[in-house]
Amino acid sequence: EYTYLQYHSYITIPFVEDASIENAIHCLAVMLYYNRPPEAITDRMKRLTPVAMRMEVKEGINNCLIINDSYNSDINSLTIALDFQNRRAAAKGMRRTLILSDIYQTGLPPASLYRKVADIILHKGIERLIGIGPVISDNAYLFNLEKEFYPTTESFLAQLDPADFHNELILIKGAREFHFELISETLELKQHETILEINLDAIVHNYNLFKSKLRPETKIICMVKAFGYGAGSYELAKTLQDRGADFLAVAVADEGAELRKAGITMPILVMNPEMSSFRTLFSYYLEPEIYSFELLRAIIAEGEKLGLAGYPVHIKIDSGMHRLGFEEKDMEQVVEILNDQTVVIARSVFSHFAGSDEKRFDDYSHRQIETFSRCADYLQQHSKHKILRHILNTAGILRFPEYQMDMVRLGIGLYGVSPIDTPCGLETVSALKTTILQIKTLSAGETIGYGRKGVLSRDSRIAAIPIGYADGLDRHLGNGKGCVVVNGKRAAIVGNICMDVCMIDVTDIDCKPGDRVEIFGEQLPVTEIAEKLDTIPYEILTSVSTRVKRIYYRE
Ligand SMILES: *Cc1c(COP(=O)(O)O)cnc(C)c1O
Repeated sequence: EYTYLQYHSYITIPFVEDASIENAIHCLAVMLYYNRPPEAITDRMKRLTPVAMRMEVKEGINNCLIINDSYNSDINSLTIALDFQNRRAAAKGMRRTLILSDIYQTGLPPASLYRKVADIILHKGIERLIGIGPVISDNAYLFNLEKEFYPTTESFLAQLDPADFHNELILIKGAREFHFELISETLELKQHETILEINLDAIVHNYNLFKSKLRPETKIICMVKAFGYGAGSYELAKTLQDRGADFLAVAVADEGAELRKAGITMPILVMNPEMSSFRTLFSYYLEPEIYSFELLRAIIAEGEKLGLAGYPVHIKIDSGMHRLGFEEKDMEQVVEILNDQTVVIARSVFSHFAGSDEKRFDDYSHRQIETFSRCADYLQQHSKHKILRHILNTAGILRFPEYQMDMVRLGIGLYGVSPIDTPCGLETVSALKTTILQIKTLSAGETIGYGRKGVLSRDSRIAAIPIGYADGLDRHLGNGKGCVVVNGKRAAIVGNICMDVCMIDVTDIDCKPGDRVEIFGEQLPVTEIAEKLDTIPYEILTSVSTRVKRIYYRE
């Protein structure tokens, strides 16, 4: 909202970081100065894009986390990166370290530039500074914190002792000429070369895509159960919280507690609360799904002991899935119990489809909607406050948007997988990648791996890659059933998949040890692997073992 001379108007900007907001205000000021009409301003502000940058978060040595931002090194992107670091540090209670090179292209005299930088990093709570470059070193006296300076990246690396870094959130930010990737390589933890890459921008894209299919007032519950469908719940939760998502949903109370400890403040629903988890629910203000009388009575009793009032719960209706939930015949008694106490209130009422992704079940889905609506109406009629209702999952949003009601529950779509055949413009979020360890040239007739299952029918080049069934690579993909992608080409998996390693046929592919291999991702969609294994993409995504390092990045 802004006022300028005679205008009073509103703008919406697609950012959350302080630095981007400040940039946007500059844009606004320029347009006002040039007397652009308010409608044009509103329209153009919506279309601003953030300063290009790529930040990667990686696990580092000695319990450190490394944020790598080597795209550019101006003051503005430094502020954005510091904000990003701050949000992470606050969540994890870690010490904040900045490794910073000389900053180019500011047009300011060095003393004023580094005075400004010193101000910013002090203000953003940096506790330790490592300055690299002749100019920043000359201005060392301006910085008032724990500090070290080196003239070049090489001189820093030459004296670097990994033991000097502990439990720190290290932001590495340097102009390209400084080759700070050498520093991040040294500080990164490398035990296992298989990684799951998660594109946080793709999550945002997918979230916005679904949002655009819904009425503006419809709320979205983002499903981050099962460790964010394998992608890591904290990073996703943080990203979605920043985008203004309304609710998160996890499977069990402990998952929710972890998110709260990490600084997630938005409402969190717990889908499968256990009787033993009420204290955890209450202490972290997690909102349980209530699916049975037993659970309803127990939570009221437990809440009463603690003197709680108006604690939000979500009433689950079984409209045809026949998993958990109250049935239509139970509603009268549910209302009786709810109206006879003040400990909990129904914040929402919801149900889940058994087959919303399949046309042949559309009649059944419609009957589910009818049953659910009758239950929800009954509950609402007997309540003094508004109760939100929701039934759509991802497939539901795509296929029955007219039943979006007050809220929807977005799961698999957020992770870039469409549950229906028609493409809908989703972006791939997760890519499972590894690297070639060794390549052997072998003659026709030789066998590969355990049980001598992989028999070579021609002279072949066989590569070993460090991923096996213990990483979540389904053993049924062995013996030619599955493949991976090397330098843009598909390579069949040869022989049985081992626990930590498997072998692939790269006879027709130009490649060498160290080359990247995609197990799934943009070039080999999870849907394709799921089909081969006669399962669903959900299982492929959630099977990636927790020992596989997750790497998050934003463009
Ligand atoms: C997992 C889940 C969803 C999300 O389903 P998707 O098919 O992934 O969109 C929605 N509602 C409930 C109750 C769930 O358990």
